[in-house]
Amino acid sequence: MSNTLLAGGQACALPARIPAVPIRGRAEVFPVHRIYCVGRNFAEHAKEMGAAPSKPSEPPVFFMKPADAVVGDGTTIPYPRGTSELHHEVELVVALGEGSDGVVAASDALELVFGYSVGLDLTRRDLQARAKARGLPWDVAKGFDRSAPLAPIVPVTDCGHPVDAVISLRVNDRSVQSAPLAQMIFNVADVLHELSRLYDLRAGDLIFMGTPAGVGPLHPGDRYHAEVSGLATLDGAIGT
Ligand code: MN
Repeated sequence: MSNTLLAGGQACALPARIPAVPIRGRAEVFPVHRIYCVGRNFAEHAKEMGAAPSKPSEPPVFFMKPADAVVGDGTTIPYPRGTSELHHEVELVVALGEGSDGVVAASDALELVFGYSVGLDLTRRDLQARAKARGLPWDVAKGFDRSAPLAPIVPVTDCGHPVDAVISLRVNDRSVQSAPLAQMIFNVADVLHELSRLYDLRAGDLIFMGTPAGVGPLHPGDRYHAEVSGLATLDGAIGT
């Protein structure tokens, strides 16, 4: 992906920045275009939220975070404003190296993948519960500053496509979430196909693939360790 401006020309002197994520083993970084997230992609998590699991015959639940919600490995994240119930959701993250203007068949979708990583879909659960109760959008619950801590991206040329891996999260050295990726209702190819029915996919897009059961609170001072087995780890903490 080039970093040239969409409208051409020189950028004026604003202190704007392009969000980016390190790539494991490379000097270059991965510039982030959009962050898409999948909801209710593990049946046991949907149930713990009091929701029906997604059905493969119906479209997945999608929502977004701003691109600059990403923060890197080893970050201490200040406890966010506007909530008293910050929740963790550990997720496989897909990074796209190519885009598509039209609908991508599931059988072709993995060709768009640049790499994979592990991240947290941090959630202001109290605000989400209020939004759900009123039938309102989830934006303030999901799309806030520093809500997407993310490990360095591992190029698919190094790791292949993870299908048998286990995704897990420890908080203060206690296991809180763990499940095989095989339990995802929509796999990576399915999700890219479904997203492409709604959006133009682009190089630099990140997709958070949904969390397994065991979501819960993060308190000031907590440390977390997220992992996709054999692929990537992410460590961080919540500020006091
Ligand atoms: Mn999530």
